[in-house]
Amino acid sequence: MNAEIIAVGSELLLGQIVNTNARFLSKQLADIGINVYYHTVVGDNPHRLKSVLEIAEKRSNLIIFTGGLGPTKDDLTKETIASHLGLKLVFDEFALTSIERYFEKVNRIMTENNRKQALVLEQSEVLQNDHGMAPGMLLTKNDHMYMLLPGPPKEMEPMYLDYAQPAIMSKLNTEEKIVSRVLRFFGIGEAMLEAEIEDIIDKQTNPTIAPLASDGEVTLRLTAKHISLETAHSLIDETEKEILDRVQEFFYGYDDTSLMKVLVEKLKESNLTISCAESLTGGLFQQELTSIPGTSEVLKGGIVCYTNEVKKQILKVKRETIEEKGVVSSECAAELAQNVSEILQSDIGISFTGVAGPSELEGQPVGTVFIGIFVKGHTVRAEKLLLGGTREANRIRSVKYGCYLLLK
Ligand code: ATP
Ligand code: MG
Repeated sequence: MNAEIIAVGSELLLGQIVNTNARFLSKQLADIGINVYYHTVVGDNPHRLKSVLEIAEKRSNLIIFTGGLGPTKDDLTKETIASHLGLKLVFDEFALTSIERYFEKVNRIMTENNRKQALVLEQSEVLQNDHGMAPGMLLTKNDHMYMLLPGPPKEMEPMYLDYAQPAIMSKLNTEEKIVSRVLRFFGIGEAMLEAEIEDIIDKQTNPTIAPLASDGEVTLRLTAKHISLETAHSLIDETEKEILDRVQEFFYGYDDTSLMKVLVEKLKESNLTISCAESLTGGLFQQELTSIPGTSEVLKGGIVCYTNEVKKQILKVKRETIEEKGVVSSECAAELAQNVSEILQSDIGISFTGVAGPSELEGQPVGTVFIGIFVKGHTVRAEKLLLGGTREANRIRSVKYGCYLLLK
């Protein structure tokens, strides 16, 4: 089987963005033994798109498109392919419902072009989009496989790995089984993690190793193929061990787990309860915690202590601490953690105080965060973070760091 990747988007031709989708897909396809013979880039123009499609059909079996699945007028990929192949576009119920749900949730009116994103080629296998709205598609027709993937790498890469690659594998005439395992890391950046294990990634062909980063976390997906399932698993075991020998301290779990899930499990196992004093995060830590079933066994409660009065009057932070050290300080974080744990009678107290942004506070730059952790019978401690993101990103990252520190 040989493949061609057609990246659709005028911004690629104008030099505004780099075609990283082709690089990602080529690497992944090579790993499963599919030769990529051509990369094509074409603008958002139906005539030119049709002409590259006709050329691709003459020379490639698997034709992969990225981009142009969105809601705007220039997004024409599936319309052009449908008309070329004489196929209709039909609504995919699952995608339509999730788009409708999204608009309900954010309380915005859904326009007709948003519905358009749920249209798929009839007869195609729909590839779910877990990170955006437009689903992908895989269609087999006239000895060709056509695959349509969204443009944004954050949507395209996980869709490819989770749904598209397994679908391609199942269509290849092979006895080989494919097994994947995701290793999840926190507290180390993507570049740093890759540098630590660069030689392993480079020499490794079975399993292959694909790094992905999102929301401050990095994952490595190990994919092995072998006729025997058992061998495929043990190939992954060996590589996993080699990787974790170097970066074990940042590893926290497998596959679909999350830092919060791991934390809840750990607390349950050790029969410990927790309470929270949240200034910077305004309840986000507890929101994340309570989204996990069974949290009632571990969470006592919490206090959103946004103002200095609440910190002083309800959480009993000393006046001198606030006046001399400020609320964005390790001393304040430590007192908040210890006091909330004593007031709500939990084994562990955690606190978040800091500067989410957009403007600085107490002369401290945006992204300065203190997380206090108190464990009954041990000393209290506070960790300082310097995060560089937007207000929302800083809050999300702080919550994750909080979990990470508790797990350490
Ligand atoms: P959307 O719903 O965001 O409009 P889409 O599937 O219609 O998605 P495009 O509109 O073509 O995709 O591209 C959206 C964005 O995705 C681009 O602005 C760019 O940031 C990114 N992108 C698109 N194609 C590529 C590519 N080949 N390589 C890297 N990034 C890309
Ligand atoms: Mg678009």
